[in-house]
Amino acid sequence: MIMSHMNGYVQEASGQAKSHRERAVDCPGEELCLVKSPHCSAHMERIQHYQEELKKKREEDSRGKHDIDPNASLRLKKLSQNPKVGIDNPTFEGKEKATKDSCSQEAVVGKLKELVDLLQALKWAQHCLTDAQSQQDAELIMQLLAKEDFKNAYTIYSAVSQQMTRVSPNSPLTAQAKDLCQEALMQAHDSVAGQEMSEEDVVEYHGETVKLVRLEKARDTPLGATVRNDMDSVVVSRVVKGGAAERSGLLSEGDEILEINGISLRGKHVNEVHDLLQQMQGTLTFLLIPSSQIKPAPHRQTVMHVRAYFDYDPSDDPFLPCRELGLSFQKGDILHVISQDDPSWWQAYRDGDEDNQPLAGLIPGKSFQQQRETLKRTMTDRSREHQGKLWYAKKNIKKRKKSTSTLSRNTDYDDILTYEEMSLYHQPANRKRPIALIGPTKSGHDELRRRLLSIEPEKFAVAVPHTTRNSRIHERNGREYHFVSRPAFDTDLAAGKFIESGEYEKNLYGTSTDSVRHIINSGRICLLCLHTRSLQILRSSNLKPYVIFIAPPSQERLRTLLATGGTTPKPEELKEVIEKAREMEQNFGHFFDATIVNMDPDQAFHELRRLIDKLDTEPQWVPTSWLC
Ligand code: 5GP
Repeated sequence: MIMSHMNGYVQEASGQAKSHRERAVDCPGEELCLVKSPHCSAHMERIQHYQEELKKKREEDSRGKHDIDPNASLRLKKLSQNPKVGIDNPTFEGKEKATKDSCSQEAVVGKLKELVDLLQALKWAQHCLTDAQSQQDAELIMQLLAKEDFKNAYTIYSAVSQQMTRVSPNSPLTAQAKDLCQEALMQAHDSVAGQEMSEEDVVEYHGETVKLVRLEKARDTPLGATVRNDMDSVVVSRVVKGGAAERSGLLSEGDEILEINGISLRGKHVNEVHDLLQQMQGTLTFLLIPSSQIKPAPHRQTVMHVRAYFDYDPSDDPFLPCRELGLSFQKGDILHVISQDDPSWWQAYRDGDEDNQPLAGLIPGKSFQQQRETLKRTMTDRSREHQGKLWYAKKNIKKRKKSTSTLSRNTDYDDILTYEEMSLYHQPANRKRPIALIGPTKSGHDELRRRLLSIEPEKFAVAVPHTTRNSRIHERNGREYHFVSRPAFDTDLAAGKFIESGEYEKNLYGTSTDSVRHIINSGRICLLCLHTRSLQILRSSNLKPYVIFIAPPSQERLRTLLATGGTTPKPEELKEVIEKAREMEQNFGHFFDATIVNMDPDQAFHELRRLIDKLDTEPQWVPTSWLC
């Protein structure tokens, strides 16, 4: 699958840069949807109109002059070798089989005529009706009577009652026979009603099934399908979730579209098909050869929720098979992946978009994204190495240093982050998530932590750190610090027991996961002020932190805020704070659960409180691995 996309890319690079391999047959604003309203009289007329057209086609076909070019596809070519090619009506054949044991062909025709008469009478009656409700009721009955299944059931019903009347005109064979007949009729009705939404006819070219699918152009429901060229045929390439095509089940991947409204698609490029559909209005009738691939049994698709760890711009992706369907997203966005049928191109919605965006979008699949990112990095590394060689050559350095090339690293890009599977998690009342405040110095995160601690000391707490320095006179082990020996500290550090650590005046300091857990177990909220480098360890600690980035405001505002606090930093220092924040966001933004821009200390504090309180009232997305 990946290769086919790669090939597509090569083709495009060599000339067709603009054309993608698949075209959406309904771009936004030109959507198609299925005819759905059973109460619409135009709908009934169209069906009748189409049935007449079909009849004409059959007649022409029987004279060997059918409209459909039997060479329209390879499969049709094969069919054309059969001299008896023609469209049969399987429903009529089925009707014959069902009735031949019990009644003659004439009787069947007679019964059907009765139905036609009834239909006409109803049509006449409908004209005489004045209120809309009664007219709608009459319409419904007419639609039911026009259904092939109903006609079959009615014929069977008539045949059975005729047989029963012949055996014993006044008494049924068994007491339940009449009830059974009624039940059969009702079952047929239910079956017809169940199929009300499917506007398709199945017709046959000797042994080969061809489908007629009717679709109606509408503004509010996209069709959600793409087409591709397969030699000279046009084939449904992708059925996108949430579109009318997917919900109806009428169009399937691999179906060949022979005609749309009588226009043959043979030899047409997908772009032409796209343009053709753009001009078409009203009812569209597709003539399809259903895919020969065995469809997997329908199963409930499980939705996978992921957090994206890269920005994605579909307009900048030459690999994307259908540009119109690409879904753009940013690092940190939550995406609901609803189909991974194509491992290279998943179908997804962005969190919050589901309601106003009925159609899913295409996003690169995880391994596909990892592979192409690996490829990209390898190429960058190679070009760097190449440039390095040139540089050495120019300098005429004979004794080359061992190359610092990253080629050896290329084989394994485990660090390529694409998506992380996420789940909703609602913190239990007695085990509150620790709050990690991240930000550059002077962004005010430490002040915010202190304010929370001073206002509600019974609710918030900080973890007691470890240190290798000696305790001071007033200090108690386990209160200000856990005083430990250097070897003990080193052992714990090597065992990964510290979320963070540092050295100050030849003494080691660090915050252990156990200290944080101690606070969580006490029912309080642990407040942490951390460097970004600690985020990775914290995330793998099973402490389920909620990470808030405290971003500085503009340089001018930051200067004013710091001046109010009594400090007058130099402009370079202010610039540095802002640049540091930008770097943090760029490299670690995908790990932030929320961001507060510290424009005003009071506002920032209230926003912080609001976010913390929200953890009690609303579930939050966390990596699924945290919950295993
Ligand atoms: P003191 O020894 O005077 O209590 O603290 C000396 C320095 O160690 C202070 O700058 C303080 O911020 C830092 N420190 C205290 N606890 C920790 C900790 O848990 N981790 C790190 N990295 N530094 C700490």
